[in-house]
Amino acid sequence: MASVIEIPLETFAGPVDPDWCPGCGDFGVLRALQIAVSRLGIQPKDLLVVSGIGCSSNLPGFIHAYGVHSLHGRAVPVATGAKLANQDLRVVITGGDGDGYGIGLGHFVHAMRRNLDLNYIVMNNQIYGLTTGQASPTTMKEHRTKSTPRGNAELPINPIALALVSGATYVARGFSGEAKHLADLFAGAIQHKGFSLVDVFSPCVTYNNVNTYPFFKQRVYKLEAEQGYDHSDSRAALEKSFEWGDRIPIGLFYKDDQPTYEDSDPVLRNGPLVHQPLRLNPETFQGFVEELM
Ligand code: SF4
Repeated sequence: MASVIEIPLETFAGPVDPDWCPGCGDFGVLRALQIAVSRLGIQPKDLLVVSGIGCSSNLPGFIHAYGVHSLHGRAVPVATGAKLANQDLRVVITGGDGDGYGIGLGHFVHAMRRNLDLNYIVMNNQIYGLTTGQASPTTMKEHRTKSTPRGNAELPINPIALALVSGATYVARGFSGEAKHLADLFAGAIQHKGFSLVDVFSPCVTYNNVNTYPFFKQRVYKLEAEQGYDHSDSRAALEKSFEWGDRIPIGLFYKDDQPTYEDSDPVLRNGPLVHQPLRLNPETFQGFVEELM
């Protein structure tokens, strides 16, 4: 096996500094992602970061790599298209809970059941931050927000359980206050062949005064330290995914090696589409391009 040549961390410094509020959990996520790709020796030219809309979705601008800042909830289909065009790219999707588990929920589920080789990082702050503090799909029941002044009447989505029953083959949860652990989870997700979800507790210090750093620091524990926990056991993972209270698990819930969508598609078995012959005459191709532009 070829040895990995680490890339200096500063290589991944983005063209602009993050515009997040001081103390926002997303800083820890960005840093952990930069550490993971640097450690894995992934060149910026081989990395694509795709996002939707939201505070966390600004992330592609803050890391040196290819990036697409797409539409609200549409990061997964954009990333799918890019991956199918060029399997050689490492494709990381970044965004928030509103973007991914709200408007983008359908795309999220279908990408998981296809087991596309994509890495999805959700900065889950349990609130809509960019629009100044409304309840999101993961806001806890009874939480008073701007849009739920009498308390949230809805149950939150459980992203870990959803990923487990939808076919994701690497399912993990991290906390932006645990940077080294988070970087390890990201590195594992990127190395994994198949769809990975890393849901990250990434506190919004401006609009969520319930799910704060102290809230998580007092509760999170690592599955890796749990004696007897077996991350190849999907039933045990599902059971753990419902633990929420005085103790909240973080770490790798589940991992399984299954053929990816790309492995199963006869056309893609011949290599990335971008390296295959066009099989169209150039005039017809040009006609398509002009129609779309
Ligand atoms: Fe982060 Fe919240 Fe500020 Fe957005 S509003 S940058 S999520 S702290």
